Amino acid sequence: MQPTEIPEIYRGEFFEHTIDYLDDVGNKIGLDPNILNRLYFPKRAVVVSVPCRMDDRTVKVFQGYRVQHSQTLGPCKGGIRYHESVNLSEVAALACLMTFKNSLLGLPLGGAKGGICVDPNLLSRTEKQNLTRRYTTEISNFIGPATDIPAPDVGTDAQTMAWLMDTYSQGLGNAVPGIVTGKPIEIGGSLGRTGATGLGTIFCLEEALKSIDKHMSETSIAVQGFGNVGSHAALYAHQRGAKILAVSDVHGAIFNADGIDIPKLILDYQQCHNLQKCGYGESISNEELVALDVDAFIPAALDGVIHEKNAKTVRAKIIIEGANGPVTPRAAEILNKSNVLIVPDILANGGGVIVSYFEWVQGIASFFWEEEEVHRRLKYVITRAFNNVMEMAKKENYDMRTAAMAIAMKRVEQAMLLRGLYPR
Ligand code: NAD
Repeated sequence: MQPTEIPEIYRGEFFEHTIDYLDDVGNKIGLDPNILNRLYFPKRAVVVSVPCRMDDRTVKVFQGYRVQHSQTLGPCKGGIRYHESVNLSEVAALACLMTFKNSLLGLPLGGAKGGICVDPNLLSRTEKQNLTRRYTTEISNFIGPATDIPAPDVGTDAQTMAWLMDTYSQGLGNAVPGIVTGKPIEIGGSLGRTGATGLGTIFCLEEALKSIDKHMSETSIAVQGFGNVGSHAALYAHQRGAKILAVSDVHGAIFNADGIDIPKLILDYQQCHNLQKCGYGESISNEELVALDVDAFIPAALDGVIHEKNAKTVRAKIIIEGANGPVTPRAAEILNKSNVLIVPDILANGGGVIVSYFEWVQGIASFFWEEEEVHRRLKYVITRAFNNVMEMAKKENYDMRTAAMAIAMKRVEQAMLLRGLYPR
């Protein structure tokens, strides 16, 4: 039961696909149609003009957005993206997906997303700071540690969050660390946040391996992408005794049948910035990487890398979606038929938002945990979510993606029904 009318302001391919997805799973699980109708669209969307003093003293005006999809389970939570493709429709779709990711992971948070339509690579540090501070001022009436807590996303980082926190705190006259997550450690960031998404993928892999009766120490893995998620996933798997046969970056992939020495490669990569020039294996293409004979493949770079045309070449038994949307729906159908276990992004890359939640909790309590404690709790939360999804998938004969969304939507539905509609 899709909405007949999508308001013009939200129209866009990604938003419409997201609605189709909600509609599909919502109908499968018999979600209350009134609830489904509400969940298609955000609770609130703010559009702001952000005037920014440039280095040449001119003033440029950028368009900024903050979209809060749902606050039913708790304060809204989601990243802030600086990219030239940012628009209201895209931000609204991403905010919606955050609601269900947080719900699936059992976090007491709703979903949000924000961003500015700008190419951050064209800004100096000063310009980026000016832009961030003015954007924060424009949205400051809508965010807060109990209402909506931003975090870094594409094109933003810990420094951006430090400026955001400082601007918000200046307005109130006291430090408010709970206003953002993904901050530097020195001003209230959490230990373990940087590697959290990569580590979360490996905790998911450990659980998924049980379905093929293997231990990490006898597992071969290929990883696509050697940025934050990919390099940490490779490192944590290597530390647990897995053999990383191949890794890739934007320049191409490398393969080593004896397994790659990941800790050494990470150090060298900081100098050479090109895996094929680091000398740790023979060069292969990213397409060859997808087709390697490994137990597990972790796509941790881009969306849509496993598609209708190359899905049949995949020989991995398990795919852990480190990136967002690396397996297209058509490819997933093909892989499901070959019994490849796909651990969906909403679950597999949830480590980042889980530790963001921990950071928020630590900030509010002004009590900070050791890294070991962060890892232990991350493992508990993501493993619990994995097992819930696996159980639902088996019970209802769903693939893991459908099962994950079904759990997430059902939880939000139950909470909405319990809280009720006000005023009636
Ligand atoms: P990143 O920018 O740190 O790394 C991206 C990596 O992908 C780089 O190694 C880059 O060289 C590689 N790459 C780019 N184009 C490629 C191509 N054509 N072929 C192969 N490799 C290519 O980004 P990241 O933070 O590691 O994020 C990766 C993915 O994970 C994105 O989809 C992101 O949305 C998702 N994600 C990240 C986090 C997080 O905490 N960082 C959380 C959830 C989801």
